[in-house]
Amino acid sequence: MNRNKMDPPGFNKNTWFSFSLLIFAVLSLSYLTNGFWGNPPEREVEEEKFIVDLGLTVSAYGQVNNIPPPVLEKIFDLKQESDSAKNLSAFALSQDQLVKSTRVELAQYIEEHSKNPTRFTIHFMVYLIFMAYLFFLMYHSQVSPAKQKLMYLAAIVIFGFGFNANPSPMGPVRDTIALFSNPDDIIHPRLFAILTFLVFVVVANKFICSWVCQLGVLQDLIFRINKAGKGRKVIFSQFKLPFFFTNTIRVAFFIIISAFSTIWAFNLVKWIDPFNVFNPSVISLFGGIFIGLILLASLFVYRPWCHLFCPFGLLSWLLEKFSIFKIKVDYQTCTACNSCSEACPSNVMEAILKGKKTVPDCFSCGTCISECPTDSVTFGKGRRHKLPPGFFTLEN
Ligand code: SF4
Ligand code: SF4
Repeated sequence: MNRNKMDPPGFNKNTWFSFSLLIFAVLSLSYLTNGFWGNPPEREVEEEKFIVDLGLTVSAYGQVNNIPPPVLEKIFDLKQESDSAKNLSAFALSQDQLVKSTRVELAQYIEEHSKNPTRFTIHFMVYLIFMAYLFFLMYHSQVSPAKQKLMYLAAIVIFGFGFNANPSPMGPVRDTIALFSNPDDIIHPRLFAILTFLVFVVVANKFICSWVCQLGVLQDLIFRINKAGKGRKVIFSQFKLPFFFTNTIRVAFFIIISAFSTIWAFNLVKWIDPFNVFNPSVISLFGGIFIGLILLASLFVYRPWCHLFCPFGLLSWLLEKFSIFKIKVDYQTCTACNSCSEACPSNVMEAILKGKKTVPDCFSCGTCISECPTDSVTFGKGRRHKLPPGFFTLEN
């Protein structure tokens, strides 16, 4: 894996080759598997132009716009069949309100009818089994760098190509935000999925992000492809962005997507959703450029989408401090050598090790555990040990 002496700086053929091969495999295999067992393309109601003429009857409005009767019932709050014969003008709705309500109710209907409960349950069960295995490995400090990469690959194959990134931890949060404009339409299956994922966070830190999230593991694997090692050169250097910077952008992004949804009923994330790397046929030109940049940035920065944009990343970070199982340091055996914080792909281990008040996202990747020469870092239950006074006075 040594850089060829003739390569220009920043050009490591092997790393670029592995990166390109991985992206090519993800796109092509996702495209193929989507064709075989993916969900059929959903109707894109956000872009539809509805024909609205207040002289039309409700049923005629449904026919010209291809709106199923249950959706009409919800839009117009129809109580009896004869109400369908009423003109649209009989309802206290402006044209804008009618279009907005149609869009939201139709999106809701399509969402509910696109889910296969059996498939959904099987996916959840596989999630649980996979995470239980990783939990066992982490709890017993058995996650080596090689095993880590293998597990990331397995997660990409199973949850990415196999499940077509459905469900993803971010999906239900993204869809719920998209429906902020009509809170009545935030449906129970979606809330159930969000709550289940957040319960995972309360139990075992960001385990769901670390090992199961399709996009999360893809970014992680890309980052590790470009990681320096013994005798191993990389494409430029990797760097750790300050948490204050990344989290400020993430909070701002959350506010912006919520505002777009609430004020204009516009699903902003849909246009740039990097999870579409597992559903490439729906990627637009703009979305493709954004996704490409995120994947490219993953070579140099640890999980850029998670740290800078992901709404689930933000929610789960808020809950992390209540996690029952988390990364801990035993200061009885710690020699303050800093190996763990240097090996950690972000600034989090430094914050944990030095007992800082604000602890950035810990993705429970296990790198700090495997790098500690005295086995002082563990993934364990309960509160973190308090930093003994004067422990880092030497600033080693
Ligand atoms: S924070 Fe990252 S790993 Fe977690 S849900 Fe978002 S994209 Fe996935
Ligand atoms: S502290 Fe860093 S290295 Fe350790 S598990 Fe968390 S993200 Fe990984």
